Amino acid sequence: MKIVTIVGARPQFIKCAPVSRALRREHEEILVHTGQHYDANMSDVFFTELAIPAPDYHLGIGSGSQGEQTGRMLAAIEEVLIREEPDRVLVYGDTNSTLAGALAAVKLHIPVAHVEAGLRSFDRSMPEEINRIVTDHISDLLFCPTQTAVDNLAAEGITTGVHLTGDVMVDALLYNTGIAEQSSTVLEVLGLTKGEYYVATVHRASNTDSEEHLKSIMEAFGEVDGPVVFPAHPRTMKYLKEYGLDDRLPENIRLTEPLAYLDMLHLMRHAKMILTDSGGVQKEAYILKVPCVTLRENTEWVETLEDGWNVLVGADGEKIVEAAAARHISLPGDQQPVFGTGHASEVIADLVGERSDTIGE
Ligand code: UDP
Repeated sequence: MKIVTIVGARPQFIKCAPVSRALRREHEEILVHTGQHYDANMSDVFFTELAIPAPDYHLGIGSGSQGEQTGRMLAAIEEVLIREEPDRVLVYGDTNSTLAGALAAVKLHIPVAHVEAGLRSFDRSMPEEINRIVTDHISDLLFCPTQTAVDNLAAEGITTGVHLTGDVMVDALLYNTGIAEQSSTVLEVLGLTKGEYYVATVHRASNTDSEEHLKSIMEAFGEVDGPVVFPAHPRTMKYLKEYGLDDRLPENIRLTEPLAYLDMLHLMRHAKMILTDSGGVQKEAYILKVPCVTLRENTEWVETLEDGWNVLVGADGEKIVEAAAARHISLPGDQQPVFGTGHASEVIADLVGERSDTIGE
């Protein structure tokens, strides 16, 4: 079967690494990079480090407003699909690349498979939530990472073509943690001691696009007891500069460029706590059994909240500092494998070849 895979943003490169590996054993894959993320440390580094095949098409779309970026991707992806005539289009997650890929395909009557289907934050002010909802409703095959995701789809009337596969990010994490342990020198380079530092990421629009929120988060980071390693997303860096916060960050904040995946994994694994608004990082914290404080009011990864591994605090400085201090209580060692056991990619590679006329039978 000929499959066109659409990726464009950092988390999608990480997710597609194990899936591409499994997929290419049985199918022909054409990889399309939309160019949504284009800096070397947000894109190229993942292709090299995770041995992802070079994209067959690089659309070079770049940044833009929601509508402009999605619209330009839609037109460019359509051209590729007309030329390649694939049997199936595979999209990942919840970015504008996901939405554009799914929309271009469905209008050409090409069946769409969605990896990470069914997630809901129930917050329609998030652009990601709109991308998730629309993509799920036009997909033929829906690969859900969790039972909650399956239930969310059922609540919206989507029951055909739905499969509980487990989470491909777990596959990537389990495959790479040992490699990172052997090869990453990030702790030495940054002069950090295991278990004595925090890792923080911030890039959700609700936090970056509000000066009040970003300032409150930075001030709160300044009040926690230890260094905070803060690999800033390009969008966050842009706003830190715009608000004049970049050169007056609290002293314990260690601002870095975005990190490569192996360094990020290694750093998270040995952190005492993670402070983040990232979806992927919340889940990685849970799997690595590192307590997490989430700088959002809601999460689509509700399983991480069970047993106190993750808490939601939004951008409220007081709550962030309080939660960071309270997280030092000991958490239960046991966890349910709610995100799967590390074999989601193989399950997806098997299911994606399902003939569209039998989907749902
Ligand atoms: N990540 C990384 N380097 C960084 C920050 C994050 O490799 O400097 C990884 C992280 O480990 C996770 C993924 O990027 O696997 C999450 O992506 P991101 O936070 O950009 O997106 P989200 O998951 O919120 O959609």
